[in-house]
Amino acid sequence: MSSVLINGNEIGKVIRNNLQTRIEDLKKQGVVPGLAVVLVGDNAASKTYVTNKQKTCESLGMHSRLLSFTSSLSQEELMTTIHDLNTDESIHGILVQLPLPKHFDESLILSAISPDKDVDGFHPNNVGKMLLGQETFLPCTPFGVMKLLEHSGIEIAGKHAVVVGRSNIVGKPMGQLLLQKDATVTYAHSKTPDLGSITRQADILVVAVGIAKLIQAEHIKDGAIVIDVGMNRDENNKLCGDVDFASVSQKASFITPVPGGVGPMTITMLMENTIQSAENKLRQDK
Ligand code: NDP
Repeated sequence: MSSVLINGNEIGKVIRNNLQTRIEDLKKQGVVPGLAVVLVGDNAASKTYVTNKQKTCESLGMHSRLLSFTSSLSQEELMTTIHDLNTDESIHGILVQLPLPKHFDESLILSAISPDKDVDGFHPNNVGKMLLGQETFLPCTPFGVMKLLEHSGIEIAGKHAVVVGRSNIVGKPMGQLLLQKDATVTYAHSKTPDLGSITRQADILVVAVGIAKLIQAEHIKDGAIVIDVGMNRDENNKLCGDVDFASVSQKASFITPVPGGVGPMTITMLMENTIQSAENKLRQDK
């Protein structure tokens, strides 16, 4: 059996086309949705992510501002920058690119972002709202995975979803969003003994670990839906996921590739959240 490819590039494009209409509507009312991205230090991967976010903003006709600092920036200076952005009328979304250099208190920084502009969905208020199923900004990667499932016509209710990874930005919220759609959810992580015995139970398997080709065909059941969040480099320095695509795609019913699966959706949902924030602000101002 060979699986159906869930194409994040294509699905992302469809969603971004729909966003274009919302951007035009905002512009007609004098609002250009604006995203500020704060980059501290010279992590090469972070620079690439930031450039991609800016390019996507620009391609949609949104306003984007990059605030780039050397790693000598102090916690206090970064706090001041965030406070300035919180009150800047032209900015609807604020994103601090992670990871920050070690001398920063990441959770304090993320908590300083106004929850109304927290388009990454990392502020404790927004995490709480997500958990309660209230309307809020959803973290972009799990939000993107939910959109991939929806656009692929995959029914979630009643399925057993296994999420491998429990980080605050991917794994934990991923499981919660699946739970809200009535999946039965199991989390696995680095302390889970016999990972395969858990992953083989999954109707929907989401892998967000960061270990190249951790999941092999023997770790999944026939016909499973496999979503690969991982972004790693293989032995030839080629981008690859946490799932061994060559073998697993022979056994899964649906699978996301890396690249071209979850990655493009993360950026797309960041755009969606920024537009949502601009719409919220416009509604409040009326
Ligand atoms: P973290 O390092 O924060 O979390 C990794 C998780 O994997 C942890 O919960 C850890 O468990 C678990 N884990 C580690 N080793 C194992 C193992 N051997 N078996 C089972 N679980 C294990 O990573 P992130 O969540 O931030 O990212 C995960 C991956 O997704 C990375 O490759 C990252 O690059 C990618 N990513 C991709 C995005 C995209 O847009 N495509 C966006 C964000 C991330 P424990 O908690 O016990 O330590």
